[in-house]
Amino acid sequence: MDAPQEILEHVFGYTRFRGQQRQIIDTLMAGRDALVLMPTGGGKSLCYQIPALARPGCGVVISPLIALMQDQVEALRAAGVRAAYLNSSLPFSEAQRVEEALVRGEMDLLYLAPERLSQTRTLELLRRAELSLFAIDEAHCVSQWGHDFRADYLQLNCLHEQFPHVPRIALTATADRRTRAEIARRLDLENAEHFVSSFDRPNIQYRIAQKDNPRRQLLQFLRSEHQGQAGIVYCLSRTKVESTANWLCQQGYTALPYHAGLPAEMRAEHQRRFLREDGIIVVATIAFGMGIDKPDVRFVAHLDLPKSIEAYYQETGRAGRDGEPSTALLLYGLEDVVKLSQMAADSDGSEEHKRQESARLNAMLGLCEITSCRRQALLHYFGEELPEPCGNCDTCLNPPQTWDGTEAAAKLLSCVYRTGQRFGAAHVIDVLRGSENEKVRKFGHDTLSTYGIGTDLSASEWRAVTRQLVVRGYLEVEGEFHSLRLTEACRPLLRGEERIQLRKLPPKAKGARSDASKATPPAEIAPADLPLWEALRACRKQLADRHGVPPYVVFHDA
Ligand code: ADP
Ligand code: MG
Repeated sequence: MDAPQEILEHVFGYTRFRGQQRQIIDTLMAGRDALVLMPTGGGKSLCYQIPALARPGCGVVISPLIALMQDQVEALRAAGVRAAYLNSSLPFSEAQRVEEALVRGEMDLLYLAPERLSQTRTLELLRRAELSLFAIDEAHCVSQWGHDFRADYLQLNCLHEQFPHVPRIALTATADRRTRAEIARRLDLENAEHFVSSFDRPNIQYRIAQKDNPRRQLLQFLRSEHQGQAGIVYCLSRTKVESTANWLCQQGYTALPYHAGLPAEMRAEHQRRFLREDGIIVVATIAFGMGIDKPDVRFVAHLDLPKSIEAYYQETGRAGRDGEPSTALLLYGLEDVVKLSQMAADSDGSEEHKRQESARLNAMLGLCEITSCRRQALLHYFGEELPEPCGNCDTCLNPPQTWDGTEAAAKLLSCVYRTGQRFGAAHVIDVLRGSENEKVRKFGHDTLSTYGIGTDLSASEWRAVTRQLVVRGYLEVEGEFHSLRLTEACRPLLRGEERIQLRKLPPKAKGARSDASKATPPAEIAPADLPLWEALRACRKQLADRHGVPPYVVFHDA
């Protein structure tokens, strides 16, 4: 038995190499460099751990997260490997012991934070030791195009110059063609062997739905499909993480919050419980999950839109590492688009960086609104072609219905234009639907030719139209008031030279009901008459529900 096979069996307890692991290991054993693209859960760690053990000297692993290093080192030590890490969390005396062991050749694997490598002190230390390889994990951190760029990763190109005879391996689960090229260029790996595994995760069912009542949607999802199972719920903000976790607990689930604002001990505890106990739901910001190795995560739900397809794919990739059926559910709404555009605009990167962020967001939105196979679109994004629709995503399982939205789109675009392209979606929709609210009157928008031309659709249907027009680039959302503006792409549509098919709202999401329940009484109703007004409204709503007449039509002749 040769060394890699023996290590696989005796140190890690597995019988067979998976996918391209063997070829990758052989490349390093032969002293050559490798660039590895493998989906999350594919087994990247063994690709450097085994040759590090099989070759003389210590393997140096660059890893971006302290928590990740600690987990790996702990697991390696448990398997009898002499492993350690050096990062800012380590007391000085401890670090010194690690350094001594390294120089004495008593270390198999050393994990380093990237910022350590820019210190001359660290480089001197490494020069005094025998090294078997350099592994750069989560290599997409070197890419400014990628979503977790780390400036310290840029320094890593010095490894090649300073240690020309030590083979290097860079690994990532997240790389479209462009990022891949950037990683190769920035890490000086153009001559390395590239190993690109399929990114397809056939056991994950991708589902993307519009936000209607996200809590209700989540609850229904959990109750009907994932009762008692482990999963991750991602939210964009810390407050939302906490409120969602609390709410899930009230619904009888064991839900634990996880975000960068919680004390380190609490985060560690929640992560530990998630790994060890059954049926735990972690509600988290994106801070959670890098390197989390739990095989039986049955679902990943996003209650907010991820910033990019890369982020979405990496986060959903945490589901179903054991190969068993799992679900990735994403709920998104227009407010997400607005929030994320805002975050991109406010970020303190360069103009180019902002343009990239916004391009990535648009690609993500495109994925949400497509009416064809999600998996095909996803894989295509990562440079891989799936010949047939997958049959295991929402659009394959329930092909979305479309409707001719040309007229609605023209109405909306005209209304945006007539109101001066300086109002957000809510106001434009109020004008379209002939709402009598104060803001509409204050701006004299109740006298416009587009006032009240949109009573044929509910407010949520109008929001869906708006969202799709934004996603498809007919409208832009701008500035602190999230004003809608027309783009050049509108012209053919407004001139009647183009027709547009829009995705239909799912029937239960028909907005009339929830809109009606939120209606505010017109100003001329005296306070004493409010109960009467409410009662009348309820009657009309009932009538409307029973006879399928949208309630606002009834309201308007009131
Ligand atoms: P990645 O870094 O690509 O996300 P990991 O290296 O963390 O993936 O591996 C994911 C899981 O797969 C781990 O539980 C690991 O032990 C397991 N694994 C990796 N290679 C093999 C193999 N050859 N046989 C069985 N299990 C494996
Ligand atoms: Mg990994």
